Order: sequence, then C-alpha cells, then structure tokens
Amino acid sequence: MPRFGTRSKRNLATCDKRLQRIFNEVIKHVDCSVIEGHRDQQRQDKLYDEGKTKLKYPNGRHNLSPSLAIDVVPYPIDWKDRERMTLFAGFVKGLAKGMYNIDLRWGGDWDSDFHVQDNRFDDFPHFEIKENKW
Ligand SMILES: [Zn+2]
Repeated sequence: MPRFGTRSKRNLATCDKRLQRIFNEVIKHVDCSVIEGHRDQQRQDKLYDEGKTKLKYPNGRHNLSPSLAIDVVPYPIDWKDRERMTLFAGFVKGLAKGMYNIDLRWGGDWDSDFHVQDNRFDDFPHFEIKENKW
C-alpha cells in the first residue's frame, strides 16, 4: 500500500481536516504526492507573477489557514500526461463524493461540468472544497 512521504505529510497537515481525510484515503489506493497546501503571501505573489495562478493574495483558497485547496499529483510525476492527471482527478472526486459527500472542484474542470476540453486555465494538481469559502 502506498504511503505519503515526509513532505507530503507536512503539506497535507496545513489543509482542512476534510482534505486530510480524503487524501489519507486516496493514498491507500493510488500513490501520489501532496505538493502544496497552505500558501503564504510571498509564495502566492511569486506564482501570480509567474502566471501560475490567477488569484492575488489573499484571495486564493490556498491562502486560508487551514487551506481549503490542495495540490496533489499521481506519483511518479509526469506533467505532460494529461490523461493520467484526469484519471486521478476522477478517482479523487468520486472518492470524496462517495465516501464523504464532499464536492471537490478540480483545476482541470473549473466549472465542474465533466467536460475537460472547455477548461481555459489548466491546473491539474489543484483540488479545492467548493463551499464555505470564508
Ligand atoms: Zn492549487
């Protein structure tokens, strides 16, 4: 059974308990890495400047503490493998909904319409809890 490494555990600990519950279950089935949880202002500003996020601090869900957003990728990481990212996201969303009745929004399908070709800004590792933003 796969297990999270030290960095993944540390990142996961900065996230909302619901995200922790979901991904502690996901890791039992699919090996994956938590690349980011909470994000401070310095890091958010940097990613904004690099065009990797559309949101300025403190408007991102990663900026909350605990974080309502999490970036997770299947391991080993292949950024070019869109199909694998999509398969992983479907598994995560199904698990979250089926086991915990939580709707997650995924960065490969922001409008959550189950179409991925209409997604204008791809952020494949990104999952966030849809409700209770503030
Ligand atoms: Zn993210």
